[in-house]
Amino acid sequence: MKAVSDLGDLSGQRVLVRSDLNVPLSGTDITDDGRVRASVPTIERLASAGARVIVVAHLGRPKGAPDPAYSLKPVATRLGELLGAEVHFASDTVGDDARRVVESLADGQVAVLENVRFNAGETAKDDAERGAFADQLADLADVFVSDGFGVVHRKQASVYDIASRLPAAVGGLVQTEVEVLKRLTENPEGPYAVVLGGSKVSDKLGVIENLIDKADSLLIGGGMVFTFLKAQGHEVGTSLLEADQLDVASGYIERAAAQGVDLVLPTDVVVAPAFADEDASVVPADAMPADQMGLDIGPESAARFAEVIGASRTVFWNGPMGVFEMASFDAGTRAVALALTQMNGLSVVGGGDSAAAVRQLGFDDAQFGHISTGGGASLEYLEGKTLPGLAILEGTDD
Ligand code: ADP
Ligand code: MG
Repeated sequence: MKAVSDLGDLSGQRVLVRSDLNVPLSGTDITDDGRVRASVPTIERLASAGARVIVVAHLGRPKGAPDPAYSLKPVATRLGELLGAEVHFASDTVGDDARRVVESLADGQVAVLENVRFNAGETAKDDAERGAFADQLADLADVFVSDGFGVVHRKQASVYDIASRLPAAVGGLVQTEVEVLKRLTENPEGPYAVVLGGSKVSDKLGVIENLIDKADSLLIGGGMVFTFLKAQGHEVGTSLLEADQLDVASGYIERAAAQGVDLVLPTDVVVAPAFADEDASVVPADAMPADQMGLDIGPESAARFAEVIGASRTVFWNGPMGVFEMASFDAGTRAVALALTQMNGLSVVGGGDSAAAVRQLGFDDAQFGHISTGGGASLEYLEGKTLPGLAILEGTDD
């Protein structure tokens, strides 16, 4: 893959950069600007090289037509604050206003185009329809830089098709993500612990499948653990359960044993009578009351998880250990996060909710080796899938 430094002199060049600015919004307030912050270094670098920087991004899931609720305007404003520079904003993506704004850019200036998903061509399944939209995007620029890691697993016009229409390179953010994920899949330094939680086993099957051969220990918490506990024959009360995944969970329990992977399941669980922040108590994982719901791993388990993490040299963690959104059930997630900040070696946090959890619990991004900006993309990478937005830049696309 070409890097930005391989693109030559960018002074005066119109550089279209695909960033991931898909932040959570409450009205027009950005509730977590992590993705905007993560996008700043590449934009700043291009601007200081004298490029005319055209930022293309999406926000939410509008239905292929303009929808003011998903306007990137507030995000462009935030980007300007973080850059400490004026950021021009075009009220469309490839229309008259976009052309006017791009034409008016001086060297080193930055513009953000309106939500790329306001155009049906961006996500069209039909190659010709997507290609036609990519042509319009390409007309605006001289060079393409792919820096939206959160979207590289999508075969979309501004991620995939445009890369074959302009000289293209990968931005620093995507480069870093790929380097880190490679260290988790190709010769990871051992002992290697994979910690999985979150709501569903079915979301994480591909990752378990691909990493069970590489990991020394597999630690499971979160809502998905009850499918494993049930598969072992335990009562799980009213906890989250994926009955159709019981055989799959049994299969992994057997495979871990056969391959000498240390499968670490909780020995105690924090339960409550309902999905609410009250009347929590701790019970043994093999003796859960039938009328209670498991909402976090218990303190003994949290200590055991922290111990395994502390003894590892590489740790990948995806998925909260409990319902961290409620104070009674955030201790397991807090303990795992703390252990990652204290271990010696590479600690990687993947997943949107996991990243939000560590920030909400008061940790700083810099305390971790890496926090992935792309939930779905990092999982697909770890599943061993080909990501279209990377393949097209590598020339390995088929
Ligand atoms: P990520 O986005 O990091 O990949 P997921 O989306 O898989 O994580 O899961 C996050 C959600 O899992 C959180 O909203 C959390 O409340 C929920 N969760 C964790 N443990 C439990 C549990 N025991 N019961 C129900 N939900 C849970
Ligand atoms: Mg999630």
